[in-house]
Amino acid sequence: SALVELDRLSKVYSTRTGDVVALQGITLTIDEGEFVAVVGPSGCGKTTLLKILANLEQHTGGTGILGNRELGGKASDDVGMVFQKATLLPWLDILANVLLPVTLKRRASAADREAAMDLLRMVGLEEFAHKRPDELSGGMQQRAAICRALVHHPSLLLMDEPFGALDAMTRDALNVEVNRIWRETHKTAVLITHSIPEAVFLAQRVIVMSARPGRIVEEIEIPFGRERT
Ligand code: ADP
Ligand code: ADP
Repeated sequence: SALVELDRLSKVYSTRTGDVVALQGITLTIDEGEFVAVVGPSGCGKTTLLKILANLEQHTGGTGILGNRELGGKASDDVGMVFQKATLLPWLDILANVLLPVTLKRRASAADREAAMDLLRMVGLEEFAHKRPDELSGGMQQRAAICRALVHHPSLLLMDEPFGALDAMTRDALNVEVNRIWRETHKTAVLITHSIPEAVFLAQRVIVMSARPGRIVEEIEIPFGRERT
């Protein structure tokens, strides 16, 4: 069934120098468990689309549904997000960083800590739980950031160019990792990337956007993509 349903969604940023139409007429359905990649030139609205899904921005036209709520309504924590930079807090160890979405709300329980350790185990960072972020490589930090995005069991995992700042080898290793996480957790995922090979490797469907105004120009089903589940 559908987790995300966008119907002619649009977004206009009002700035001092005038309106910027970032998204126009975005109609898109994402099924539960699906992995969708979004590609397109700079400025076509990829990040805006993710921010709207994460409730970090409000759309200005059309409608959007995520799970059982309307987008733009009450903020919700059913989304986990990974950014280009891992943005781990340097004074906390890896485990505390992963637990942050939980501890911002309440005291972490033993079960929360165990769940966080399970995630760290899944990405091979178990032994680094009590290290500080600067003791880890960039790729390892980004793995921790993925764990942090998953720790509160979001229904949707959003990744905005998560590996854009990493070298090619690390990137390949992380692609394999993300594919494994997706297969193991059955998490619905949306990935923004500039890499077509990355999109094709990871996604079941690639959404191609174009700019001025930002819109979807093509949706490509990846052959055998669905069989990876
Ligand atoms: P992409 O992620 O594909 O590069 P963005 O979503 O960042 O695209 O941007 C889409 C368009 O919206 C661009 O024209 C950009 O300049 C504009 N934009 C993005 N954020 C803002 C903002 N906060 N205020 C005004 N314009 C913005
Ligand atoms: P990634 O591909 O995640 O960036 P690297 O290629 O940098 O990882 O490192 C591969 C392996 O080397 C890691 O899984 C880890 O076991 C070890 N390693 C890398 N950096 C460090 C570090 N700073 N301290 C200890 N071990 C490390």
